[in-house]
Amino acid sequence: MSGATRVLVLNSGSSSVKYQLIDMDGEERLAAGAVERIGEPGGTADHAQALREAADELKARGLGLDSPELAAVGHRVVHGGTRFTVPTLVTDEVLAGIEDLVPLAPLHNPANIAGIRVARDLRPDLPQVAVFDTAFHATIPEAAARYAVDTATADRYGIRRYGFHGTSHAYVSRATAALLGRDPADVNVIVLHLGNGASASAVRGGVCVDTSMGLTPLEGLVMGTRSGDLDPAVVLHLERVGGMSTGEIDELLNRKSGLLGLCGDNDMREIGRRMAEGDKAARLAFDVYIHRLRRYVGAFTAVLGRVDAITFTAGVGENSAAVREAALSDLHNLGVTMDSVRNAVRGAAARLVSADSSRVAVAVVPTDEELEIARDTYALAVQSD
Ligand code: ADP
Repeated sequence: MSGATRVLVLNSGSSSVKYQLIDMDGEERLAAGAVERIGEPGGTADHAQALREAADELKARGLGLDSPELAAVGHRVVHGGTRFTVPTLVTDEVLAGIEDLVPLAPLHNPANIAGIRVARDLRPDLPQVAVFDTAFHATIPEAAARYAVDTATADRYGIRRYGFHGTSHAYVSRATAALLGRDPADVNVIVLHLGNGASASAVRGGVCVDTSMGLTPLEGLVMGTRSGDLDPAVVLHLERVGGMSTGEIDELLNRKSGLLGLCGDNDMREIGRRMAEGDKAARLAFDVYIHRLRRYVGAFTAVLGRVDAITFTAGVGENSAAVREAALSDLHNLGVTMDSVRNAVRGAAARLVSADSSRVAVAVVPTDEELEIARDTYALAVQSD
């Protein structure tokens, strides 16, 4: 097909649909937007309605989805399980496969499926590509992917480390190599994706070998509202002693914990303001967050053996000089020397914030999950054309 170079990227969440229209000829972003409050009173009824609203907005800007220039639609899908380890052209069979994974991602996969269905109805002639949040982590060796629980039980229930934020870790680890002017195959990177959700990954020569999120996005770093790592017996204790239900514990650990649980705020900017006023709870939340981060930096340094770069990305990672400084201060023995002046400079571009003498480069790289999804989608749609 000639002339069709545009990709519509859809990120359908439980209560929102975010979209971007990208022209792959020059990777230019033509439009971006979101339809929010799906299923809420006074909001948009459902995903079909949300996508129609998005399509109307695009049409009003002369970018209607009926355009012959649209080459494909790329969908973010949260859980690909062990079955989907690469971007995949959507067929009925693939859709059924994504549906089979709903028990592993009960909040996310149904919304992703709804988005795919509606987009297919809108343009049945176009390739629809599913890009999985878990895919980049499919290369993690068994030693790191397995939990030490009974094998039969683990296999029966699909219990293993899948990892998430994969498109971000893939994009950012490659962009880090580019920033260093090196081939991704020669570079070992620890990527710290610190947004409202947060995860770390260890990438050896472009291949992911470990990550902090596990069966679900709950494990690992302290996040905005998620606890990250805890003794699994905490759950049993809350059941036995606290009399809490599965749903209540789920809500507690996913939505009422992390920074929010520790101090009542999940936004790092607000926590920074409160700390400056001497607020003790905000300080403790920050310290717990940083302690966990440093633990993962140490652990992934040992996993990789040789680290060439540590890269910060996403809302907190890209914007909070205080978090970056605290996370990597006094790590000279690990070859890390920050440059506080560089680190304090705000900027939108990928940049180094370590001293020239630092053996391990420290970088800030803005993530772009939509562009990564668009690239994967375009590559597959054009190849299969
Ligand atoms: P999401 O996981 O929702 O995609 P983002 O990557 O957009 O999240 O990150 C959102 C978070 O980034 C906010 O909750 C806030 O804590 C943090 N953040 C955004 N801007 C700043 C800033 N200037 N300084 C510190 N933290 C920031």
